Formats: sequence, structure tokens, C-alpha cells
Amino acid sequence: LKVVDCGSSASIGGPCDIMNYRKKSLGGRGRGVNAKFVPPIGQNDTTATKPTFSVPPSLAHLDSLMVEQIMRESMHKYKPIAWDEIAGLEYAKSTFMETIIHPLQRPDLFKGVRRPPRGVLLFGPPGTGKTLIAKCIASQSKATFFSINPSSLTSKWIGEGEKLVKTLFAVAAAHQPAIIFMDEVDSLLSQRSDTEHESSRRLKNEFFIQLDGAATNEDDHVIIIGATNRPQELDEAVRRRFVRRIYVPLPVAQAREHIIQKLLKQVHHNLDDAQIQGLGELTEGYSGADMDSLCRYAAMQPLRVLSSSEIDAIDAQQLPAVCMSDFLSALQHVSRSVSPEDVKRYVAWNEIYGIKK
Ligand code: ADP
Repeated sequence: LKVVDCGSSASIGGPCDIMNYRKKSLGGRGRGVNAKFVPPIGQNDTTATKPTFSVPPSLAHLDSLMVEQIMRESMHKYKPIAWDEIAGLEYAKSTFMETIIHPLQRPDLFKGVRRPPRGVLLFGPPGTGKTLIAKCIASQSKATFFSINPSSLTSKWIGEGEKLVKTLFAVAAAHQPAIIFMDEVDSLLSQRSDTEHESSRRLKNEFFIQLDGAATNEDDHVIIIGATNRPQELDEAVRRRFVRRIYVPLPVAQAREHIIQKLLKQVHHNLDDAQIQGLGELTEGYSGADMDSLCRYAAMQPLRVLSSSEIDAIDAQQLPAVCMSDFLSALQHVSRSVSPEDVKRYVAWNEIYGIKK
């Protein structure tokens, strides 16, 4: 597995770049869209490392700095993630096996009318495992994985979005089979407005051309997985390009139990199956990320009652077991982050635009 992360906070623009970036202001942040492009690596940046790869000859006609950035920036591998680490979401998993994993393994079988769609959309409330699924696909498939955060990426290449998209897809094609995971795809492709900057309009058009595959070879194996918490903001042009639109819902009780069991494996605890089942029922409406926070809060309880000197001195084996009352206390502090009204909106969107089971 090769992973290229082109938009993480650890990358060259730094965390402030992301925090200062306001959604829906592509090309903003005080610099005009026609302002001269400033390479994100400062000349005197001693922390920048020299590239340790060579740019493939097929990319020689492109902007070499941009190609290098895309290939190198924050390049890292995700630790292997197995499907069973993702609680529930059986339908999403099987769809991904059919649309991504198998076609990448056996491109000879999946061609012509069996050719998988180029664009797949994951939508649903925040913290339900969309990114986790993408990372799992990355670790399962042998494809080069590009993880893109559009907000972060476009803020680094202000006014260069169209060229950036073109370059990104060219780099992906040169490293195929490849998967491009684009989180917060709505921030890049949300409905057009009259006030939209010309540069972001061109960026979107280029993205559409690439998603349509018009600029690529019929035999290219580049798949784009878009993720969004705000599918309502995607217009018809975007929906049409993401042929498979997969709803990633809040976890059901059994999946919530699965998450608790998985996390409790890391600590000494004395909860039995009935108690874990009870917690599964008590956490109706919690997202996977909420469950994660809940377990972390509960797991800290045995440490919270200790003084600093006790923490200094205690033997790890002597720590009291995490127990049911720690979870009951955690439930007072960690509440669900997705409202029932929000869930209704996702369900309604899914009924109209999601793929039918
Ligand atoms: P999203 O991309 O949908 O906003 P993430 O995939 O980033 O959500 O999930 C955030 C965290 O929540 C994950 O790292 C994981 O710890 C937990 N989580 C969410 N969904 C699941 C799930 N289905 N199974 C296990 N853990 C989950």
C-alpha cells in the first residue's frame, strides 16, 4: 500500500492554515484569485525535506513542484485496518468490495459493461466511519492512496485549483491503480452560486472532466471516493458524477456494542456481556465517534480519582478495572452529537438519491 496524503494538517501549510481557512471561500483569505502563485515551501524552510523519488517521465510536462508536492506531501502509510474493525456498515463494505477492491484485484474481469463507476460518494452524519472505511480500503487494496482535504489543499494553492486537479489526476493515473479519497467534498463541489469565484468554477469544471474520465484513458484505474456530511449541498451535476451514493448511517445497537468491546480490549475492565449490551441500548443516537469519546472518558475514570503523586507511583497492573459506573458517569458527560432532525434529513436524501439495496 502506498499512501499519499495531500491535505493533512501535518503538511507544509501547517495546522493554522487549515484553521484559518473558511469553507466556501475558495480562493479567498486576502489574496486575489489572480495573485501570483506563491509556492507553499519557503526558500528558507529548513524543515522541508528533499524528495526521495523521481517524477515519472509521463508527468514531465506538468508543473514539477506541484507534482512533487502531490507525490510527497505528508506521505505515510495507514496501519492496516481490517473490515471487522469497522462496526456495522455491512452494506457499505459489500458495495466497496464490489466496486473497488475486486475490480482493483481483477481488472481483467471488471471491464466494459462490468467496469466499476469512477466516483463513489459516502454521505452521512459526522463520525460514522466514512474516513475509517476509506482507510480500510487503502489498507486492503494494493492501490496507491491519495487522501485529499479540499479546504486545506486549495488554501495552499490559491488560484491554482484547476491546474492542481489536473495534476492530481495525472499523478494518480501515473500510479494506478489508485484511489483518491476526498473528504468534505461539499466544500469543493457545493452548488454553484452567482458570487462564485471564477477560479473555483474552473476548478469544479476540471474536476467534472476528470470524474467523467474524459481526460483519461478508458483503461485507467483511478477511483474517487468523496465523503460528505452535507449531501444536500451537492447539486445534480455532482450527484450524476458520483454514480454510487452510499449512506453511512449512525451505528445500530449491535454496532455500538462492537465499538465498546473493541475499545475495552485495550484496558483492564470488569464489564460483562449483559452490561455491554445495556450500554448499547443506552447509547441510542450516538455516532461511532461519540462511542469512541464515551469509551475514552470511561477508561480515564480509574485514573481521575488518583492524585498526581499516586499517578506517579502506581504500578500499571494495580489500576482499578474500568467498570459499569465509569460508563454511567461518562454518559453524563458525553452526549450524542447528531440530532434526530439531522438523521431525518440524511434518511430523506438517501431515499431520493442513495443507491437502492
Ligand atoms: P467520518 O469520516 O464519518 O466523519 P470517521 O471515520 O473519521 O468519521 O470516524 C471517527 C472515529 O469514530 C473513528 O476513528 C473511529 O474511532 C470511530 N468510528 C466511527 N464509526 C465507526 C465504526 N463504524 N466502527 C468503529 N469505529 C467507528
